[in-house]
Amino acid sequence: MQRFALVTGGSRGIGAATALKLASMGCDVAISYRTQRVRAEEVAAEIERLGRKAVVLQADLADPAQARRLVRESAEALGGLHILVNNAGYSQHAKFAELSLEDWDRMIRVALTAPFVAAQAAFPYMREAGFGRIVNVSSLRALGGSSHGAHYASAKAGLIGLTKSLALELAPYGITVNAVCPGYTVTDMTREALARNGERIKSQIPLGRAADPREVAAVIAFLCSDEASYITGETISVNGGIYMR
Ligand code: NAP
Repeated sequence: MQRFALVTGGSRGIGAATALKLASMGCDVAISYRTQRVRAEEVAAEIERLGRKAVVLQADLADPAQARRLVRESAEALGGLHILVNNAGYSQHAKFAELSLEDWDRMIRVALTAPFVAAQAAFPYMREAGFGRIVNVSSLRALGGSSHGAHYASAKAGLIGLTKSLALELAPYGITVNAVCPGYTVTDMTREALARNGERIKSQIPLGRAADPREVAAVIAFLCSDEASYITGETISVNGGIYMR
């Protein structure tokens, strides 16, 4: 059966890899970007080369109204919505004592409020289809905290609570809701840290390297698939074993 998917932040990194993986599985895919239109259009062209429809939409997800509009426009352009991947995000290196209320507030809006609003806007389409998949991209920081981004870790931990709550509420409608916690993944977000502290970071990872975005996308896409029909409310780490004890 044909599926329609929205991947927020699909212009680069994990979101772009996820959009391409979903397209390779037969989905028509809407991707959103905030600033990088050209990168988003390059991803869309690759989706089309796979023979699927691609839709490119702009939204600043710090604004809940834009998150709601993004879902509506995606569903209208695709003809429905079965899959929502709440992936868009950013990191900000800041010590707790130096974090402003504005820093905190913006992070919560992008990483926690936007997934809530997008899921709420997507729910009627999924309910109508009798099928839905929501995957929230959290982080290893949700599980282990962060010494340089308390707002990021807090928002990402909140996203796990949202995931479990929606999984409980939406199960009766055939909608599953899961979270994926990537570890260090080679994207624009981590390029600088990996260049600066790569050896120290890799020494903490049992598999000895950062992830390729496609390794994270494969897990997200599986959770979006029909095969993952009996998994809901779960949080799956893709982190090279960094939190094994
Ligand atoms: P990335 O390469 O920096 O890409 C971030 C994406 O999010 C881009 O598409 C960007 O749009 C979009 N975005 C950022 N802020 C936005 C906003 N305010 N409104 C709308 N879109 C926005 O990041 P990534 O590494 O792939 O990360 C993807 C997700 O994985 C994030 O939620 C991140 O927290 C999580 N994660 C990443 C890692 C890692 O090691 N990379 C680890 C754990 C968790 P533009 O391209 O237009 O700027």
